[in-house]
Amino acid sequence: MKKSPPKLNLDRKFPDNMTTAHALLLKAKNGEKGNKREKPYAVPAFNVTTFQGINAAFRAFELLGSSGLLAVSNSAIKHFGDGDPVFGLELFSGYVMKKAKRSNVKIATHLDHGDYISDKGRKVIQSAVQYLTSVMADNSTDKAVNRPMPLGDNITLTREVVDMAHPLGLSVEGELGVLAGEEDEDTKSEFSTYTNPDELDRFLRDTGVLMLAPTIGTMHGPNKGKPGHKVKLNIPLAHELLDIANKINEEIVFVAHGASTLYPNVVEYAIQQIDTQEDPSSSLQKWLDFVGTDWDQIKGLIEAGFCKINTDTENRQTFLSALLGSISTNSAKIDIRWYDNITTDALTQSYIQKLIMSGNYGIWYEPKINVGEFRFDLSKSLDDLLNASR
Ligand SMILES: [Zn+2]
Repeated sequence: MKKSPPKLNLDRKFPDNMTTAHALLLKAKNGEKGNKREKPYAVPAFNVTTFQGINAAFRAFELLGSSGLLAVSNSAIKHFGDGDPVFGLELFSGYVMKKAKRSNVKIATHLDHGDYISDKGRKVIQSAVQYLTSVMADNSTDKAVNRPMPLGDNITLTREVVDMAHPLGLSVEGELGVLAGEEDEDTKSEFSTYTNPDELDRFLRDTGVLMLAPTIGTMHGPNKGKPGHKVKLNIPLAHELLDIANKINEEIVFVAHGASTLYPNVVEYAIQQIDTQEDPSSSLQKWLDFVGTDWDQIKGLIEAGFCKINTDTENRQTFLSALLGSISTNSAKIDIRWYDNITTDALTQSYIQKLIMSGNYGIWYEPKINVGEFRFDLSKSLDDLLNASR
């Protein structure tokens, strides 16, 4: 008989205030003593690519007393490491750990879309288990031949990562089904397949993962279908899959990839800025063509029991929109920290907004602002907005 997968080693002690993504998600799923929330909430995973992005996320977590989940993709760690992904992991995790030590919220660091298929992917995951608190092992797609990975291979490769990571105390996220769309240079697919409920039972039992990204209709990237068409998620399938997982182990949590929504006011603001450019037509059309998933669809997933929602596009758009605004306000400021501060404050606003939408506030202490009063508005300074909501 095949050996059963190793359980997550809960004796592993991470540095001050660091914990696994799974610990934060399980708290969101179940609640616990000290967590007065009766309704389920979700932990948004913020994909960061710069140190300013980390600062913005920490500011948002600390204002709201939120659980903090910072994700990095393969291309993000390459960016942090100036071309060297392993060096990037070291810099990213070192910076986050130092920030967490000075903080009063709990923080997890997670590798987004790691894979154990390619040599490059294996090397990144093997390094990530030394630096992060959680990894994703996405072996759902064979990118070399652009087709879904056969179930048996996905299980074998994901199990290898669980065998390595669980004894070290790191949680592992697996993926079953194929998500369409483009996230970054390393994560894109033209096709999509829903997660097959019959395969889920075997995948979860044989791999031992405690975090699962199923495919129920979400898409990566800023263009989720044709402009004018609304993305429709398969919520009944989400319920069916969760029931299967709960029967195996109630500690299994679900993750929604491609769960970006759009902020209409951010898009509108960007369009106003582009309008002032000399040849605005091509950029403008791209902004007009962005299609996100409506928040009520994502809310349906959270209500069904999804605990981690991956959000990136709307944060990138917020950054870009604010940058466009800062340049059209003053494109001759020689102190480049001025642009830095404007974009970092904008990202902070976006993160605060998403944490409030997900119900992830007041988890570790009472929020320092009145969340009902917060109004996301790029035309105002962050300090003014926060003062208005105290
Ligand atoms: Zn994803």
